[in-house]
Amino acid sequence: MIVQCPHCHAGNRLEAERIKDAPNCGACHQPLLFGAPITATAENFASIVKQSKVPVVVDFWATWCGPCQSFAPAFASAAQHFSGKAIFLKVDTDAEQTLAAEHKIRSIPTLIAFDRGQPIERLNGAMSAGQFKAWVMGFVD
Ligand SMILES: [Zn+2]
Repeated sequence: MIVQCPHCHAGNRLEAERIKDAPNCGACHQPLLFGAPITATAENFASIVKQSKVPVVVDFWATWCGPCQSFAPAFASAAQHFSGKAIFLKVDTDAEQTLAAEHKIRSIPTLIAFDRGQPIERLNGAMSAGQFKAWVMGFVD
């Protein structure tokens, strides 16, 4: 599968099993899965969520959604803050309608946290960076 580096946007081809080793980007050598939100697709979503050793927080959003746009910096800031402790994925619900349907997304933004492949927390609507970090602290060590 391909994971786009959140730092330099290079596409990295890797085996799903390598997710748990927290690989670095082949192009810029920064952590491929940490420090900034990753764009998830139907191709890589399930592998990342299932193989990750740390919780995975997913932001289901869309480009036309105002609250999603305003929430994006809070999500990016948390990805940096919890680098190494949680993976932050973004799913564009227009581009990835199958993923949106699978997770019964009825309004956006919707945030779902997964641990070892299972959904553990779910939240609807945008919030401040502080509120969001507090929510993440609830399930991240
Ligand atoms: Zn890179």
